[in-house]
Amino acid sequence: MSDHAENTGRCYACKRTFSFDPKEVTTVLIDPETRMPPGITVLGSLRPAKPEAVARSVDEPVCPDCVSKATRYGEESGSDRSWGSWPPSSN
Ligand SMILES: [Zn+2]
Repeated sequence: MSDHAENTGRCYACKRTFSFDPKEVTTVLIDPETRMPPGITVLGSLRPAKPEAVARSVDEPVCPDCVSKATRYGEESGSDRSWGSWPPSSN
């Protein structure tokens, strides 16, 4: 028995496998159909999130490197936490 639960997962942004504490890790809600957060189009523009898109979406872990990169990117582009336009190129 240990209360230090560690999971291993793949970072949504950089696809790197990393281990994380599920209680601490940053996650982003991803619609598995579009591989984008619900409410964001593949072009990175906003649209109303459909309830069914939110319902099928799952939380994907994001590694600390990408969290800081995304935070910086969000600051530079003048909007906070703009996961929709980051990473700039998909794949
Ligand atoms: Zn990453």
